[in-house]
Amino acid sequence: MWDYSFAVPSLLVLTIILLFYFSLPRLPIRMNGNFLNTLIVNSAVIFLDIVSSWADEHYTQHTVAVLYVLNALYFAFFFARAYVFFEYTANVFRLDPSKKLLQGALLRLPFIVAIVITLSSPWTGLVFSIREDGYHSGQLYNLVYYIFYLYLIFSFFVIFAYRRRVPRRRHRYSILLVNLLLVVGITARGMYPRLLLMDTFCLMAIIVLYLTFQNPEFYLELRGPIFNSTAFRDYIDENNGKLHHKALGIVVHNYHEMRDIYGGRQIDRGISLISNYLVENFQDYLIFYYRKGRFIILGDKDMPMEHAMGLIGSRFDQPWTADDLELYLEAEFVTVEMSDSVESADALLNAMILAMEKADKLDATEPIALDRLAIESNEKETTVKRLLEKVVDEDSAEVYLQPIVRATNGEIVGAEALSRIRDDSGNLIPPTVFIPIAERNGRINKLGEQVFEKTVRFVKENSLDKLGVSWINVNLSPIQFMRPDLDERYDAIIKKYDIDPRSIHLEITEESMEDDSFLRRQMQAMDAKNFKFVLDDYGTGYSNLTRLKKCPFINVKLDMSLVWDYISEPDEILPNMIQAFKHMKFTVTAEGIENEDMANIMRDIGCDFLQGYYFSKPLPMEEFIEKYST
Ligand code: C2E
Ligand code: MG
Ligand code: MG
Repeated sequence: MWDYSFAVPSLLVLTIILLFYFSLPRLPIRMNGNFLNTLIVNSAVIFLDIVSSWADEHYTQHTVAVLYVLNALYFAFFFARAYVFFEYTANVFRLDPSKKLLQGALLRLPFIVAIVITLSSPWTGLVFSIREDGYHSGQLYNLVYYIFYLYLIFSFFVIFAYRRRVPRRRHRYSILLVNLLLVVGITARGMYPRLLLMDTFCLMAIIVLYLTFQNPEFYLELRGPIFNSTAFRDYIDENNGKLHHKALGIVVHNYHEMRDIYGGRQIDRGISLISNYLVENFQDYLIFYYRKGRFIILGDKDMPMEHAMGLIGSRFDQPWTADDLELYLEAEFVTVEMSDSVESADALLNAMILAMEKADKLDATEPIALDRLAIESNEKETTVKRLLEKVVDEDSAEVYLQPIVRATNGEIVGAEALSRIRDDSGNLIPPTVFIPIAERNGRINKLGEQVFEKTVRFVKENSLDKLGVSWINVNLSPIQFMRPDLDERYDAIIKKYDIDPRSIHLEITEESMEDDSFLRRQMQAMDAKNFKFVLDDYGTGYSNLTRLKKCPFINVKLDMSLVWDYISEPDEILPNMIQAFKHMKFTVTAEGIENEDMANIMRDIGCDFLQGYYFSKPLPMEEFIEKYST
């Protein structure tokens, strides 16, 4: 009556998948739990499908009770199968049906009702009944199809409505394929009931899930039975804020040097030995490996850190040995207590990696304790980095202009362009925060150029004469200044807008002057293209007047700190310095002028130009135009 030639091989293949899946460590995250349910429920359905079909066929050899139990179990698992596939689909889109109580209960209701009806069948005969002549389908037998199609509709709804939540196209297509296979499976079951075909399609769906999402090796570091940093991120992201975690970072001291000394292959084997040691000795915890000899043990709030460090430390006092291998390594530690949630797993991981790097460099005898503050400041930096990417991508840096006035009459002669960026809620982030970060990660090149181009466009689109402005200063970071193609890039922008390069002055700081010969070459190249230079923040760094003399600056800006020091405690040094600059044919600007007294004093000791809140704060371009148009 039944043909088992699809169902039996399906069960065998599923067994292989189960064996593989269980032979490797699995990360305790929801998705893996779901997959486990899917595997168990499907194995049960296929097994019961074969057994109950066989028993129905040979009903004379079994008691009625046995037939009822086998068939009821089969149908119950069949309904559960519809639900577990749906639950998995929801999870791929990071929806957790069990999270919202009511919603979760409603979503489970159909299959639970169906199971209850099935279990009542011995008395009601609704789904099936067993009579003298064996198995019979009941009036509600088609529930099998209704329930399955219902959950498939839910799944397709999720796939469509939440498609943006899954950025990888491969993932979206795979989960779509899984559900299409299920559609084909349930339809084939209706068309060819005797072939027991559906199990094969469900198996195909499981194989797609395994290949796309579930292969445990996605989360494993190949060197040993230990999780990788993707696993760390996914685990923390899913459990963020829910658990009180402790983490212990372990650093193999001088990893690179050790690689040079012992050779790459030996060190890889050593890392493998360490992994095994950690897995064996810390079975209750999750162990991760993050490249370059850095491990993380993640535990709950009761993890005995001191004890763990003592244990691992003394293990490292012994060599790591195997066959022909004998490695002498040292370990450094970083400890973290996460009492609250962290902004993201990335922020935590970055903070830990930085701390581990530090521990390694310092050759610290004590572990470095990473506290909330350190993680937070790292989070902030991560946020700023993300915003910088956005600003560079979307060309959305804002440029504010602050007037620079003539000291003798307070009238505007120029302006300084100062960049501004905003966080996601629209608040301004000060350049003192984002410029150093942009300088560290190189984004300053694009950002600085953006500010430069926006200023050039401003010059092009507005009549500077009407604003009373002869030039606008733009800041140039030492990082940008080091680029050999700077002159060409900036010249191209000047040409694009066809403005006079002399209307833009570039402010550089003394930091840019460290490499003497490069400085001179760069300035000459830029000078040849008619760019003018201003020395910014004079008095904050190491200054050498003879060196300054050799550089074609047109103006020196006295840093605010120098100006304020002089105001609070006048001496002969600053006035003399200003005279020296004038001898060198530089004009002088004083920054940070906040009141009339300061303006007068700085004018009297010879400053040509003044800049500061007393005259105006930096203004958005439109406000600047409104205020200074004549
Ligand atoms: P800076 O080039 O020395 O710019 C002057 C800074 O002093 C500005 O701060 C300005 O708002 C502030 N300031 C002006 N007058 C007063 C005053 O009377 N009192 C006080 N307390 N402060 C005053 P801001 O805009 O926060 O910029 C800070 C620094 O960030 C700048 O110092 C500059 O080094 C850097 N920066 C800003 N925009 C850019 C840019 O586009 N590129 C580069 N490379 N650096 C930039
Ligand atoms: Mg400046
Ligand atoms: Mg300055």
